[in-house]
Amino acid sequence: MTVQGFPVLDNHCHIDPRNGDGIDAVRRFADRGGTHMCIVNKPSWSLGVEADEGEDFRAVFEETLGVVEEASEVLEGEAFAVLGAHPALVSRLLGRYGGPQNDEGVQRAEEVMKAGLDVAAEYVEEGRAVALKSGRPHYDVQEPTWKASNNVMQHAFELGADIGCAVQLHTESGEDFSDIREIAEEAGIDPDRVVKHYSSPAVSAVQRSVLAREEWAFEAAEDGRDFFLETDYIDDSERPGAVLGTRTVPKRVDALLDAGHDAAVERACVTLPEDVYGVEISV
Ligand SMILES: [Zn+2]
Repeated sequence: MTVQGFPVLDNHCHIDPRNGDGIDAVRRFADRGGTHMCIVNKPSWSLGVEADEGEDFRAVFEETLGVVEEASEVLEGEAFAVLGAHPALVSRLLGRYGGPQNDEGVQRAEEVMKAGLDVAAEYVEEGRAVALKSGRPHYDVQEPTWKASNNVMQHAFELGADIGCAVQLHTESGEDFSDIREIAEEAGIDPDRVVKHYSSPAVSAVQRSVLAREEWAFEAAEDGRDFFLETDYIDDSERPGAVLGTRTVPKRVDALLDAGHDAAVERACVTLPEDVYGVEISV
């Protein structure tokens, strides 16, 4: 099923059979007309992994890849994997490595996260994932933590430049992300392949992945700039309703099409994902 003949992509969601509805959430998406989803690995610790080295991430990535495979079977289109280290991991690591004032601990935390990204990049190179996930904490942190986080993000950009893939970002909220664009340009990755997840429509300087609230979806479609739509569905039965459900993006696409935003929908769900992730979107 599609929505009025259009493929529908949810650009950032989590499907977690262990703690949530798993493939049932994918079925709800598909039944409403959703065809493609970018499934992002959950934070390593939420899957019981306390990472101390890059290899520790492999179990997390493999679990996500299994879910992506299952989801693809349910979808008329395809699910894509986005793999990386969650930016909040830095604080968790520093909790174990002596805190933000311990230089050695900060260095070690930075290295663990970079190593996790190195492993994620292997999966992209093998064609099993389409993008990396990185960023920096969305909450206030001390200067050394902030610096380390920016270094990790820069490393993700360098990997993306190297292997030719996009990077999804989890960051602080905000609108003008010119500083991130600069880091991306220096690292050699096309800033248009740097996608800020959980964007409001006002986000600029990097690619917007707009949270699919009704007013935001329309605002994004009306301003004429490129955008993705996402739910950031977390699939956690302990936090029902904490985020948008998987039917949301198909519903918004339906409403956008009813309002005549066909070109915006085609861009958000077909040509932009093709440009940014190098995938083919067809149903
Ligand atoms: Zn997320």
